[in-house]
Amino acid sequence: MSDITHSLAEIVGEEYVSDREEEAYFYARDPGLMPAHKPDYVVVPETPEQVQEVVRLANREKIPIVPMGAGMALTGLIIPLKGGIVMDMKRMNRILEVNEKARYVIVEGGTSQGHLKAYLEKNYPRLRHSIPDSPATATIAANVMIHGQGRLTQQYGFNSDMVSGLEVVLASGDICKIGSCSISEDWFSKGAPMPDLSGLFLGWFGATGIITKLALKLYPRKKMRDVEIFITDRDDLIPDMVYELTHTEMVEDINIFSQPKPMIFKDNHHMTIFITGDTDEELEFKRKTVWRVLEPFIKSKDGGFMGVSPAMKPTLLEMPQRSVSRFADVTKGGGFEYSGPIILVEKYAECARKVTELAEKYDLGYSGMARIIGRGHCMMYGFAFTFNRADPDMMERTRKALHEVSKFALEVGGIFWKPTVNEQRMAIEKMDPNTRNLMGMIKENMDPNGIMNPGNWEVN
Ligand SMILES: Cc1cc2nc3c(=O)[nH]c(=O)nc-3n(C[C@H](O)[C@H](O)[C@H](O)COP(=O)(O)OP(=O)(O)OC[C@H]3O[C@@H](n4cnc5c(N)ncnc54)[C@H](O)[C@@H]3O)c2cc1C
Repeated sequence: MSDITHSLAEIVGEEYVSDREEEAYFYARDPGLMPAHKPDYVVVPETPEQVQEVVRLANREKIPIVPMGAGMALTGLIIPLKGGIVMDMKRMNRILEVNEKARYVIVEGGTSQGHLKAYLEKNYPRLRHSIPDSPATATIAANVMIHGQGRLTQQYGFNSDMVSGLEVVLASGDICKIGSCSISEDWFSKGAPMPDLSGLFLGWFGATGIITKLALKLYPRKKMRDVEIFITDRDDLIPDMVYELTHTEMVEDINIFSQPKPMIFKDNHHMTIFITGDTDEELEFKRKTVWRVLEPFIKSKDGGFMGVSPAMKPTLLEMPQRSVSRFADVTKGGGFEYSGPIILVEKYAECARKVTELAEKYDLGYSGMARIIGRGHCMMYGFAFTFNRADPDMMERTRKALHEVSKFALEVGGIFWKPTVNEQRMAIEKMDPNTRNLMGMIKENMDPNGIMNPGNWEVN
């Protein structure tokens, strides 16, 4: 054992440290397209104190440290670009407290989406959280760290807007509480009415601190949930349709997808509209409201509802949705990656046309998918391309297509979601210089030795 491995073993136990080649192989990559880079050590802590000790050691020895959830962000954010320690958070998966009346939960920094979903269904059937469509192993901390979106994002904003408190280990090894929990026993606010310090961490990809605990707001789980599908070939009318639907304030979630396969989907845009209710009457009222606001588009022959058969419903209503990974044929060695800029809904048609254009140019399978955020304030438009991992040429074509997406997104006023390091550089370059300086000051002060997920948000 090297000295560092030995020191790490003293902190977390020998079983939970590795510097072996075969572990490094796996922790060098994620399922996306970014090139692999091996860590020197992998460590799996169990407590905030162990995280603290490991960070102190890393800071003292100036060793990079990369916190990792499930590694499913797909854009290489957990690849240890400069080697060092990958800290796998999976053992910190406890649900610590639920405040039912105030509707929030406190979880550890490695708790998975699937664990929380199952726990709430069993113990608090009237509560739910905003579940993303990522695999159930994806962690809650990582999802808010990258400003993820889930089933409740149309109503309440980014999943990170639903955070109501953080406990973070700083680069110095100090543990810091953020929000009401810094003063009170209660974790109901991440900032307001005080200065909101959560912005020093959320969106930074672990480059300013490691989340060891977080509180997440929960929302009412209605007894019933249903879905309607509206189809149109008028991509230019989608923003108007979304405007009308979000005006009702009665819809749980709106996703719009377009893809050429299976053939039945070709050339159309499918708007999946989710509604919920506690009684048949409530659900029926919401359904009729949705029909009413979209009726003018039916009358003008610009769209219509598709009958959703009872056989289709369970697939459409499942959370997380697995259709995305199915379309990539992952089980047969396929893969997919998407670039998902956050952008105005009024840019829908430009995005939908771009994904088709790029798929044709680079001869790739594709899907375009918009998720409406916060009652139409903006959307995530996912440009997803499929590839065969055994075909290097196809992988290269996918990289090129995604690079074009990045350039396009900036040109039409979008900003990158969970950006690759290349996209981070592009964003930094376009950023207002004073904002850039401010980010640089924050990073320099919070991580003077540059050990926290280095390579990410390197402004200076
Ligand atoms: C099929 C599929 C569907 C998806 N659908 C969605 C979707 O609907 N909505 C959505 O939001 N995303 C989606 N994603 C993207 C992604 O999987 C999720 O956002 C997921 O929540 C990422 O979690 P993770 O644990 O895999 O993150 P990781 O990739 O492990 O980490 C992401 C970032 O967070 C940092 N990090 C991890 N843990 C901590 C911590 N404790 N403290 C500080 N930093 C930390 C990492 O260093 C990294 O920078 C999807 C992905 C796939 C493959």
